[in-house]
Amino acid sequence: MIATVPDFAGLVRPGIRGLRAYDPGHDLVALRKGREGLVELGSNENSWGCSERVADAIFAAMPNLYRYPDPLGGGLKRALARKHGVEAESVLLGNGSHELLMQFAQVFAGVGADVAVSRYAFAVYQLAAQAAGARLVVAPARPLDDLMPRGHDLDAIAVAAKHGVRLVYLANPNNPTGTWFAAEALENFLSKLPPQVLVVVDEAYAEYVDDPSIGSAVDLLGEYPNLIVTRTFSKAHGLAGLRVGYALAHPSLVAVMERIRESFNVNLLGLAAAEASLSDSYHLSSVRVRNAAERRRLTEALRKRGLNVAPSQSNFVLVDFGQRCARIEAALLAEGVVLRPMGGYDLASCLRITVGRPEENDRFLYALDKVR
Ligand SMILES: *Cc1c(COP(=O)(O)O)cnc(C)c1O
Repeated sequence: MIATVPDFAGLVRPGIRGLRAYDPGHDLVALRKGREGLVELGSNENSWGCSERVADAIFAAMPNLYRYPDPLGGGLKRALARKHGVEAESVLLGNGSHELLMQFAQVFAGVGADVAVSRYAFAVYQLAAQAAGARLVVAPARPLDDLMPRGHDLDAIAVAAKHGVRLVYLANPNNPTGTWFAAEALENFLSKLPPQVLVVVDEAYAEYVDDPSIGSAVDLLGEYPNLIVTRTFSKAHGLAGLRVGYALAHPSLVAVMERIRESFNVNLLGLAAAEASLSDSYHLSSVRVRNAAERRRLTEALRKRGLNVAPSQSNFVLVDFGQRCARIEAALLAEGVVLRPMGGYDLASCLRITVGRPEENDRFLYALDKVR
């Protein structure tokens, strides 16, 4: 007898029905097969890799792989608390910040508790809202002739968040636009919101920022208990493969989130590696300096070629290739250069390009001149 397969797509909760699985861009494992030296600039990973201290910490942790990790992540939490000048009870650890971004909506949003974002904001926020069954309110982004084309318009978001919104997601800087807002603008925004509207400021790229006016939402945590700041070890710390992220928030908010946290959500090697990485401020600042230099060089090289490059304070640039975009993307792929298409963001004429090491950027520019 052949069992009947249920219509699983029909069985799912309404919120999940409209969801599509995460689009990773390209199947990199397949692309790498039988091919040396692919230039991978599609995923905003740290092109310079992680601190050398990470390997030592991972080897030291290996004999304990048969044990569960510290369920409280105490060592890493205390190190993060010291770094950010908060109490350890204000730190929430996640299996990447993606996990936490999803869980904020799961815990606080839903029917009658809407989620507000900017247009062109990081796609995970929309996923989080949908999966939680919450209505998504999308505020218009800044216009193209603005200094921050397609950036967050905090005034517009504040207006959108007026009625029925429980949770706001902001990214500073934002992925994929690369745009940012100043600390002063954020404070002004927070001062306009009622305290029961929670504001998540996703600072995944904060370590790359070198414009001092941008500051960090971390400095406002003491003043605004409705503020949540997320950070990650996936970008400037170069540990994307280990999946460690964290949030900083009021201890009583963290305590609520702890109720749904999976007991061992951050693994043993991840905890050890993140703590080791935090101890190596030299590596982090060297990554920041090298990324900033290459970001500048890449931006100028692309602008010299007549392309529209959005300003960036992160480890990637968003570039408008116009009508030729899809053709150029495919041709670059054939040349072994992987970039990230932006059709999913309604930015079909743009590609997001991670800042690579000098030789990677050179190879990309060489290939670009060949195909365009
Ligand atoms: C990369 C990225 C993250 C980080 O995700 P992890 O799950 O921590 O790897 C979060 N927010 C934004 C905007 C990002 O670009």
